[in-house]
Amino acid sequence: MQKKHIYFFGGKFTEGRADMKWLLGGKGANLAEMSRLGIPVPPGFTITTEVCKLFYKNKRRLPNEVWKSVQKAMQKLERIVGKKFGDPKNPLLVSVRSGAPFSMPGMMDTILNLGLNDETVKGLASATNNKRFAYDCYRRFIAMFGDVVLGVNKEEFEKVLSLFKGKMGVKRDIDLPAHVLEDIVEEFKGIIKRFGHTFPQDPYIQLKMAIEAVFLSWNNDRAIFYRKQNKIPDDIGTAVNIQTMVFGNMGEDSATGVGFTRDPAFGEKKFYGEYLPNAQGEDVVAGIRDPLPVTQLEKALPSAYAKLQKIAEKLERHYKDMQDIEFTIERGNLFLLQTRVGKRTAKAAVKIAVDMVNEKLITKEEAIMRVDPAEINQLLHPVFKRGAEKNFKLIAKGLGASPGAAVGKIVFEPGRAVELSMKNERVILVRKETSPDDIHGMEASTGILTAKGGGTSHAAVVARQRGKPCVVGAKSISGKEIIIDEARKRLVVDGNVFEEGTYISLNGESGEVFLGEIPTEEPSITNEFGTFMKWCDSIRRLGVRANADTPEDAEKARRFGAEGIGLCRTEHMFFQEGRIEIMQKMIMASNTSEREKYLAQLLPFQKEDFYEILRVMDGLPVTIRLLDPPLHEFLPKREELIREITELRYSGGDPRVIKEKEEILHRVEELYEFNPMLGLRGCRLGIVYPEVTRMQVRAIFEAACQLYIDGANPVPEIMVPLIGSEEEMKHQRFLIEEVANEVFREKKCKIKYKIGTMIEIPRAALVADKIAKYAEFFSFGTNDLTQMTYGFSRDDAGKFIQVYMTTSTKCRYCGTELTKELKCPHCGREYGEKPENILKIDPFQTIDSEGVGELMRIAVEKGRATRKDLKIGICGEHGGDPESIEICEKLGLDYVSCSPFRVPIARVSAARAVAKKKLKKLEVADK
Ligand code: ADP
Ligand code: MG
Ligand code: MG
Repeated sequence: MQKKHIYFFGGKFTEGRADMKWLLGGKGANLAEMSRLGIPVPPGFTITTEVCKLFYKNKRRLPNEVWKSVQKAMQKLERIVGKKFGDPKNPLLVSVRSGAPFSMPGMMDTILNLGLNDETVKGLASATNNKRFAYDCYRRFIAMFGDVVLGVNKEEFEKVLSLFKGKMGVKRDIDLPAHVLEDIVEEFKGIIKRFGHTFPQDPYIQLKMAIEAVFLSWNNDRAIFYRKQNKIPDDIGTAVNIQTMVFGNMGEDSATGVGFTRDPAFGEKKFYGEYLPNAQGEDVVAGIRDPLPVTQLEKALPSAYAKLQKIAEKLERHYKDMQDIEFTIERGNLFLLQTRVGKRTAKAAVKIAVDMVNEKLITKEEAIMRVDPAEINQLLHPVFKRGAEKNFKLIAKGLGASPGAAVGKIVFEPGRAVELSMKNERVILVRKETSPDDIHGMEASTGILTAKGGGTSHAAVVARQRGKPCVVGAKSISGKEIIIDEARKRLVVDGNVFEEGTYISLNGESGEVFLGEIPTEEPSITNEFGTFMKWCDSIRRLGVRANADTPEDAEKARRFGAEGIGLCRTEHMFFQEGRIEIMQKMIMASNTSEREKYLAQLLPFQKEDFYEILRVMDGLPVTIRLLDPPLHEFLPKREELIREITELRYSGGDPRVIKEKEEILHRVEELYEFNPMLGLRGCRLGIVYPEVTRMQVRAIFEAACQLYIDGANPVPEIMVPLIGSEEEMKHQRFLIEEVANEVFREKKCKIKYKIGTMIEIPRAALVADKIAKYAEFFSFGTNDLTQMTYGFSRDDAGKFIQVYMTTSTKCRYCGTELTKELKCPHCGREYGEKPENILKIDPFQTIDSEGVGELMRIAVEKGRATRKDLKIGICGEHGGDPESIEICEKLGLDYVSCSPFRVPIARVSAARAVAKKKLKKLEVADK
């Protein structure tokens, strides 16, 4: 039996359904579904996506038997509508609309008013008694057909149209009288001739050409590119919808518009939309005239408006989601032309999801799936006052790397940023790119702007961690490089010079940079948001902790809902002023007792810090990691020392100072490592210099005991970094226990604590059963684990990862830049397709599930085999990444830990991982 290629929609003739979008495309399936719901939809039919495949198999021609079915379907449509296609007296006109299973910008545009020719236009004019209308339709049709089917640039037609408007002295196209539109039609046909085509007069030829053009557009460059970008397979094909025209351009009682069943920006439950009276198709969005708010339709065409409201409600109740609709009113009669799930801001997403649960439309699990966790941060950062940026000049645009609005004076040096911020000035640090040396300046700024770098550049990563709005890789509006002249303290954009102190405003989400001080406001944490987060917390299984090194960060983390600290790094405590000098002396020490002397001086600082952090986290676990970085990081740089010593010698400096510097240089050279990432760091330090571990552990327990005596409830967990073997763990564990007991005896108090390790060396994952004998918890340090599993340096990988992640556009054989698929224009070799990118995801952003994820799986399994109640978490950057959190849920981890600002994202992601499982179970049960 021959497959069914055509499905009707509209009233009782409807054959398709919403769940047939693979066959009918989204548009076709939903037109059918609306018809089933009794919603007025102009009748028509959908040619299936299967036909698209046949078309390509048939050398890009519509197979004959399909064409026969289309002609038959047209005859049926004629009977339904009571008009004939090509009838010179009262012609049936149709639109030809593409429609893939996924919404796909870049494909063919819609053709309206197909079926018009020099004869039928006259019939349309007399049947409607409206010549202006008939010729308005005709000129639109010729232009669309010329543009879409024949490939004549639409600007050619627009030029002529403006010319006539100018001649007539009118601004709007609806003010052109019938006879002028008639002239325009002739001009348009002339344009098509000039480009070597003839405009087909036969409606069936028009139809066939239009259908073929839709199928061809499935494989135009734009569409292919879009599919690659969005990982949509190439072989699903598009459907074509042929639909009876309804006319919004028949006069003032006619209109066309678009709308959302709820406000897509703020989520309020009210119909929201725009329309244009006496207009057709995309006029509303094309900016031909200023559209009117749909509320005005209530006065202009009250009965149509009332119907529209009812339909909007019905669609929501049916689809259980906010809908984005297209409608047309022909002489007071309302028709729906499209419905689909509407896009919305994070704010609206939260409100709509919560409201819909309260309206009993959806379940809490469904509500949780409706909000993209990556967008949650939008709700926590300050934002520009609504619409305020319209009054400011956009000067540059880059990649929005960290969301939020930032306003401040531009400064070019980190030091200056700190200076000004001390005076309570708001500043924006503007750099070519940032480096670890700029951190203090970044910290002091309200926002960060760089000319170079992408989403994983230093600036982007630090800004996200710190929750600072940040725009990276900014270019001028005309797409030129912006010049950041750090020496002369000026920013040059498109030839305009901005000195230090000029106010700019950044939108860290859109990447826009404005000149001037745009007013901002705190985002309103709505009731709905609070409710939503409560639901997330009640459904999620994974705990959420924060990575926090200071009491301030710990406080932030608690405010955002962290249930403890998963990683408190201790090294920054040594970097602070007044401490680094002692640290250096400690490192320089030539024997243990000298080293212990300096360690004893460092102890009070550490103790103070731990006390504060444990206090802020009262009652919640705080995982403190022992010192991790290589020692030479605390010493001055070798080159700098050499330069200083040389200068001192030539200028006759104090010989004692010279000698001191020489000693430091000597030690720096001793400590120098070719590969510090794999050198003397982590537990290796604590094994080579056990006194370092001792001091840190003592500081932790002295602080904890003191806090306990002061009436609080400290819950310290001591984490040993970089463990790779059972023996290392055992060594450090005994050391820690010994010191802990010492302190407990001295302070006459006892505190519950845990000892554990980071799993960040592949070997540790493989021998996790042995390590677990001495560790009560594991925390995956996925930054190092990824580095060592892939062999990609965390600090240098940016360069090649970018290459790995872009789809190459060069010929695999000769390197020629390819613009078209299939064949290389240079060497002529059949290419098949452009080479795929080597990495699909950046493993430093999302856990590489098949490599790193597999090591994690092994570690979980082996670790728990030894110790059933082994607590397992993750504290790498991945702990705040939604996709990675889903992997952690699947692996059965106990908690994730991420930077304070990502805590809400993690809470939502963890909830989604559970909701997804639950919904899938229901789905299976349904079937
Ligand atoms: P897109 O997928 O780009 O939105 P559409 O196929 O939805 O393209 O159509 C573009 C415009 O033409 C829309 O405003 C739509 O409502 C209008 N349109 C399409 N078909 C008809 C028709 N049969 N009668 C009136 N307007 C139509
Ligand atoms: Mg549309
Ligand atoms: Mg590490």
